[in-house]
Amino acid sequence: MRAITVIPGTPGSARLEEVDEPPATAGAVLVEAVAMGVCGTDAEIVRGEYGSAPPGCDRLVLGHESLGRVLEAPDEAPLAPGDLVVGIVRRPDPVPCVCCAAGEWDQCRNGRYTERGIKELDGYGSERWRVEPEFAVRVAPELGRLGVLLEPASIVAKAWDQIERIGGRACTRTETVLVTGAGPIGLLAALLARQRGLEVHVLDRVPDGPKPELAAALGATYHHGDVREVGEVDVVVEATGAGQLVFDVMAQTRAGGIVCLTGVSAAGRSIKADAGALNREIVLENDVVFGSVNANRRHYQLAADALVRADPRWLERLVTRWVPLEKWRSAFERRDEDVKVAIEF
Ligand code: BGC
Repeated sequence: MRAITVIPGTPGSARLEEVDEPPATAGAVLVEAVAMGVCGTDAEIVRGEYGSAPPGCDRLVLGHESLGRVLEAPDEAPLAPGDLVVGIVRRPDPVPCVCCAAGEWDQCRNGRYTERGIKELDGYGSERWRVEPEFAVRVAPELGRLGVLLEPASIVAKAWDQIERIGGRACTRTETVLVTGAGPIGLLAALLARQRGLEVHVLDRVPDGPKPELAAALGATYHHGDVREVGEVDVVVEATGAGQLVFDVMAQTRAGGIVCLTGVSAAGRSIKADAGALNREIVLENDVVFGSVNANRRHYQLAADALVRADPRWLERLVTRWVPLEKWRSAFERRDEDVKVAIEF
């Protein structure tokens, strides 16, 4: 079977190649790949800047945003042949830490978790893959190939879960949200905010194209200028990881504000910030700034529910490019009109 593989740490090493069928040890559920979403993390791995191969191997099978059709499942699994399925990305650390032991591997305390297609475990970017039943999530058949959006949606479902828990600390109510970055994570965060009935502002650099259209179709207000033009909001979901903006949004919240950082940025870029003013504002306003990564099984379920409730035509527009497996390389070329790009098997 064919798989997209890469030597982590070696730029230019990614290729589509023949590999062995997935070993039975990878899980009792055998799946035929339907699609694989491509995100910034995959691009980083392909550039040789992130990721690690399974112990004893040079190459890593890429792909953590999966969608497949079940070929074989054990009788006791809540899945049957023909079902659409997505594989969960992270596996608990072997210790395990308190969080991993409780099924909250997204909150792993010791960093020894593993991740399919990212960290020490082969990913889902092969024509067939296996997964353990407890790490497989059934996708509603009506979602079809849009089920490939489940993993990125799980990231924002976790972010919103955390925002709501933090919001519960006082009687303040969330009414307005600013999402910075109109990529798939930002727009899915905006979707979940609209599903909560909130007033949503989306900020991105581009003045036109699918991003403003997708934001408008959600009923959100789109901005492409200075973040200060947006005015103060209750919650910010930051999805760019752009240093200056990360600091600027911290000053953009009302008292009791919450800033959720989801963008993974490269190290080594410095900016000038007024640490005193920032600290003073956060303290005097009881603000919270926190980071959010990955998702546990509960978040995948929340995400699956959110996708089923969304307008399928909107979800279809979010995936701006479907690339056949043979042309996988073009999925990694950034084009201006790209929002989510997915590879079809
Ligand atoms: C994935 C997460 C993962 C993170 C860090 C993201 O792209 O969506 O599941 O935890 O990268 O490796």
